[in-house]
Amino acid sequence: MQSPNPWPRFVRQLLILAVPFVLLGVIFGYLWLALLLLLIVVLGWHLRHLYQLETWIREGRKLDPPMARGIWGVIFDGIYRQRRRQRNRYKKLQKLTRRYRDSAKAMPDAVVVLRKDFRIDWWNQAAADLLGLTWPADERQRIGNIYRHPDFLDFLDDLDASGGVITLPSPVDDSITLEIRVIRYGKRQYLLLARDVSRVQRLETMRRDFVANVSHELRTPLTVVYGVAETLAEELADEPELADSARLLRQQSERMKALVEDLLMLSRLETATAPPPDDVVNVAGLLQDLREDALALAAQSRHEVVIEAAAEVSLLGSEAEVRSAFSNLVFNAVRHTPAGSCVRIGWEVNNSGGHFRVSDDGPGIPTHHQARLTERFYRVDDGRSRGRGGTGLGLAIVKHVLMRHGGHLEIQSLPGKGSTFFCHFPKGRLCQSHLPNPSPVVDQSA
Ligand code: ADP
Repeated sequence: MQSPNPWPRFVRQLLILAVPFVLLGVIFGYLWLALLLLLIVVLGWHLRHLYQLETWIREGRKLDPPMARGIWGVIFDGIYRQRRRQRNRYKKLQKLTRRYRDSAKAMPDAVVVLRKDFRIDWWNQAAADLLGLTWPADERQRIGNIYRHPDFLDFLDDLDASGGVITLPSPVDDSITLEIRVIRYGKRQYLLLARDVSRVQRLETMRRDFVANVSHELRTPLTVVYGVAETLAEELADEPELADSARLLRQQSERMKALVEDLLMLSRLETATAPPPDDVVNVAGLLQDLREDALALAAQSRHEVVIEAAAEVSLLGSEAEVRSAFSNLVFNAVRHTPAGSCVRIGWEVNNSGGHFRVSDDGPGIPTHHQARLTERFYRVDDGRSRGRGGTGLGLAIVKHVLMRHGGHLEIQSLPGKGSTFFCHFPKGRLCQSHLPNPSPVVDQSA
C-alpha cells in the first residue's frame, strides 16, 4: 500500500509555527528578526534529525529508527521499512545458499566451483577426499596447479562452450578412477563434478574378461564340432533324412564359430592398449580382394559388386583390422540387400583424409535405427538379419577398428533408397606408396 503524501501536512505545520513569530514580529516591529528566529528554529530542527539519521545509518547496529515526528518521522519510517525488507531478503538468500551448500556437501560426488580462469571458489567434502583439496591453502588456486595430470591440463585447455568429460585416476589414490565433468554456467564460470567410477570400470573389465575367456574356451570345442559336422554332412550325403540334420548341425556350428571369432576380435580391440601397428595397407589391392570375396558370398544371389574408385594411396594401420572392418561392411551390403542388388565400393583421398565407402541400392535403414547400429547385437530386423548369417557384431567391430585408427564411421541411409557406409581416416594415416619406407601424405603436403 502506498503511504499518503506527507508534504501538505508538513507545509501546514510550518505555517502554524510561523504565525506566532510573524504576529510577535509585527506587534513589536521586528518582523525580519522574528523571521530570522523562525528560520534558525526550523534549521536547528532539521540539523538535529540529520545528525540522528547519519549516526543511525553509520552505526547500523539498531534496526529501529530514532524517534522523530513530522516529515522526518516519515523519512525514518520509510528507511526502516526498506532496511527491514532488505534484511529479510538477505536472510532468505542466506538460507537458500546454505541449503544449496548443504545439499552439495552431502553429495557423494566431488563438486568444485571454478572461476573463469579455473581458480577454485568453493568445494565440498567429497572433492577434498577425491581430488585432495585442502582448505584454506587451495582456495583461489588454479585447479590445474593442484591436479597436474597432463591429460587433465590438455582437457582444460581444449574445453569448448558446453564443457566436457574425461576419465582419469584420482590424484589422491591411483586405484580410484574418476569421471571428471566440467560444465560451463553463468558468466564463464565452471562447475567441476568428479565421480568415482572405479567399481563400474572393474565390472566392465570383468565383463570383458568373462566374454573373452568364454569365447576362448569355446573356440576349440566348436572347431571340433564344426569339423565333425562337416564330415558327417559329407558322409551322409546319400541319406537324405540324416543329411538334412547333418547340414543343419554344420550350419549352426559354423554360425557359433563365427560368433566366437567376432566376440574374440571385439574383446581384443576393446582391451588393446597399444596403438595399431603401422602396416602399409594397400587399399586398392584390398578392394579387389573384397570384391572377389563378396562375389563368392553372393554366388547364388547374383549381386553385382563394382569398384568405383581406388586411389593409389595406402593406409597406415593394422592390415588385419582394416580388412576385417571393410569386409564386414561389404558383406553386410550383400547380406542385407535383395538378390540382384548392386554394391559399389570405393577408396578416395582428399584434403581431409582417406575415405572408404560401400554403397548399396537395398532397402535402406530407418533414421531412428542408425545411431544404435554399432551397438553389439543391435539389428534393424532381428529375425531376418539372424537368418542372413550375421553375428550382430559386425558394425561394433568396424567402430572399434576405426576408433583405434583415429577414424570414424558415417552412415547415410534412407528407407527404400539404399545405404552408404563411410570409413573416414585422418590425413596422418595416409601414405603415398605401399612400398617399404612409405612417405606420409601429410609430410609431403606440408
Ligand atoms: P549383422 O551381423 O546382423 O549384419 P551388423 O552389426 O553388421 O550385424 O549390422 C547391424 C544391423 O545393421 C544389421 O542386422 C542390419 O539390420 C543393419 N545393416 C547393416 N548393414 C546394412 C545394409 N547395408 N543395409 C541394410 N541394413 C544394414
